[in-house]
Amino acid sequence: MTDFKLLNDVDWRERLSAEEYHVLREAGTEPPHVGEYTNTTAAGIYSCKACGCELFRSDTKFQAHCGWPAFFSPLAGDRIIERSDDSLGMRRVEVLCANCESHLGHVFEGEGYPTPTDLRYCINSICLNFEPAE
Ligand SMILES: [Zn+2]
Repeated sequence: MTDFKLLNDVDWRERLSAEEYHVLREAGTEPPHVGEYTNTTAAGIYSCKACGCELFRSDTKFQAHCGWPAFFSPLAGDRIIERSDDSLGMRRVEVLCANCESHLGHVFEGEGYPTPTDLRYCINSICLNFEPAE
């Protein structure tokens, strides 16, 4: 099994497209409203584009109208890493894949969405692969 945490930048550039590399490995952000999964509602599992680890389930996805896929909870707490991000002069919480430490997006709290957690995991669509349920 590949230990994704040991891959170097050359390895990652071989595995990912230039756009994927920029978001996943350089903590970039895809433009809003363009991602393949922004408005999808099909049942299934969303996994990490970089390593394949299952990250989010469709039943925690909600319509946040923010331009990116939004989830109110990860599939399991240990699937992701949350760390503070003070870039761009804002205090935000960055979300990374716990398995490969690739950037996924940010999590925002207390925005008033009618979800069980009042959290919005704002995840770049390009960081995800969707596997429909049987
Ligand atoms: Zn990953």
